[in-house]
Amino acid sequence: MNVTLELVADYIANSRKIAVLTGAGTSAESGVPTFRAQGQNKSAQAPLWEKYDPSELASPSGFKRHPDLVWQWYDWRRNLVESVSPNAGHHALAALEKLYHPQPRTFTLITQNVDRLHHRAKSQNILEMHGNIVSFRCFDHGHQAGEVERSLPSPPLCNDGQCHSKLRPNVVWFGESLDSAVLDAAMAAARQCDVFIAIGTSALVQPAASLPYIAREHGAKLVEINLERTALSENVDAFLQGRSGDVLPSLVDLVKAHPRPV
Ligand code: NAD
Repeated sequence: MNVTLELVADYIANSRKIAVLTGAGTSAESGVPTFRAQGQNKSAQAPLWEKYDPSELASPSGFKRHPDLVWQWYDWRRNLVESVSPNAGHHALAALEKLYHPQPRTFTLITQNVDRLHHRAKSQNILEMHGNIVSFRCFDHGHQAGEVERSLPSPPLCNDGQCHSKLRPNVVWFGESLDSAVLDAAMAAARQCDVFIAIGTSALVQPAASLPYIAREHGAKLVEINLERTALSENVDAFLQGRSGDVLPSLVDLVKAHPRPV
């Protein structure tokens, strides 16, 4: 019996409000590389953009300078994320939400991931802090676009009235602000939760990285699930080391077996 897993199942079972923060590690077992893995294994990337630093392309100025290159890079990434499937960790989080929604219990899934795998696993209450790369809006006015053709060499133009601005992914780029409604909701979830679980994140990218600390300041139990220790690990009440696709299903099984308060 894993004592820490039991302890975390107990925290969860005795909570009314749960907030979860996921990062790129949560999707690694689906075959979506984390940023660090991309850095280590450049050959996994197509040669066209290999020589660029992602922060150079993933920015408004990068898009203005190299619109075709940035468009093709995101087209490649969209194809990648749509060709893979949610893994056991994504499914376990959706199952945990089912146990906790609706009121009086609440479950908020805050994700830094842009791959939409939590949606495809049927999680419901999702806050996408960094947007996603499978939907699009126009660069100049933010008009949302419908279905966008694949494998286009250049960004298509907005067809909202006379706009004709280039389309871009609905993702938050370096140098851009997060959607304030999404950020406010994530902060509120962190302030109000009884237990906060950070999963597969290096806990370095702000403002997401501050959410676990906000939760702890407001009295939440802090849990981390990761392959390795991170900047956050020193501060948590429980650290579960392992792959999220292994740890989460075991955790959810234990929670299901636990008597929960009504
Ligand atoms: P990160 O790449 O900085 O860190 C990933 C973390 O996940 C590491 O701590 C690693 O030890 C851990 N990890 C790897 N495999 C794991 C597994 N199977 N189970 C549990 N933990 C595992 O990722 P980040 O903290 O999310 O921050 C990087 C930024 O990159 C975010 O802004 C995110 O939007 C973006 N990003 C997103 C995706 C995606 O949408 N899938 C992929 C790459 C990068």
